[in-house]
Amino acid sequence: QDSQVSDTETITDGHRWPRQNSLSMREWDIPFEELRIGEAIGTGRFGTVYRGYWHGDVAIKVFKMDNLNDEKALDQFRIEVSTFRKTRHENLVLFMGACMSLPRLAIVTSLSKGMTLYTHIHLRKDKFNMNKTTIVAQQITQGMGYLHAKGIVHKDLKSKNIFLENGKVVITDFGLFSVTKLCFGNRKNNALGIPAGWLCYLAPEIMRSLKAHQSHDDELPFSKASDVYAFGTVWYELLCGEWPFKGQPPEAIIWQVGKGMKQPLANLQASRDVKDILMLCWSYKSGDRPDFIRLLTILDKLPKKRLARSPSHPIHLSRSAES
Ligand code: ATP
Repeated sequence: QDSQVSDTETITDGHRWPRQNSLSMREWDIPFEELRIGEAIGTGRFGTVYRGYWHGDVAIKVFKMDNLNDEKALDQFRIEVSTFRKTRHENLVLFMGACMSLPRLAIVTSLSKGMTLYTHIHLRKDKFNMNKTTIVAQQITQGMGYLHAKGIVHKDLKSKNIFLENGKVVITDFGLFSVTKLCFGNRKNNALGIPAGWLCYLAPEIMRSLKAHQSHDDELPFSKASDVYAFGTVWYELLCGEWPFKGQPPEAIIWQVGKGMKQPLANLQASRDVKDILMLCWSYKSGDRPDFIRLLTILDKLPKKRLARSPSHPIHLSRSAES
């Protein structure tokens, strides 16, 4: 299991933060009153993201809490969040601080002005040519490689959590998955307790750990390798414009992936090298999946088409800046 924290800020006795370590925490702790909260941008599984103001425009993710008595989960969340301030990479959203005083838990990040890959691919049906696909994938790989080097597992890498801003990839929502334990009742469940649009990113070992009534005490085995599996699905979305196992019921997806079956690639018009990346990332055994450093080497070796006089680029990056 990948460790989330290798910091001196771990909780060493039964006392809860912020009584100890308060000095080192203070630099990123934001009092809720200092935030000017504006209009809601959208509501996800675990809370609502607002446009806001804190020394400039920011995005404020306010978690909808319904499990405030789970001290262990709260502490785990605080420790995880404390690692975010160590993230400084141009392909990761800028973590500015957090409000950690109950009952309000919020994360403050830079406001992304672009659109998510989800919006580009699934809503606008934008087509990404191979060059653009490779460039986007390289940037995701660089951001994820950095995150893993810092010991942070994303746990929720998906096209909804990847913004494109003037051609630059910005990954959001990393390491926040443990907050699900605090917001469990906020999930929009289907019969299996699994939110829609989430399954196709889950590696076989996670599929096999899903229970019919997933409880917040059941740890799912997220790891660096499960992030790589999720990246494989994003690579597929970029190539095909849709999710793998499209239109299939959750039970069928869980059964197939859990047994080691993969989305067939017969209809995908792409070179062997490009398909090999999918097969590597989607390897059944987590140990067979490449890490992001190796993936970057593989992506760098993909043949590049010369774009110099190409008249049509399916994706117009200037548009994303205007949204
Ligand atoms: P899920 O709960 O499945 O992750 P989601 O990604 O839509 O779904 P949130 O992460 O809560 O849920 O995001 C809610 C909305 O806020 C989305 O439209 C998302 O694109 C937007 N959003 C999130 N972070 C930022 C940000 N830093 N800047 C601008 N918009 C953001």
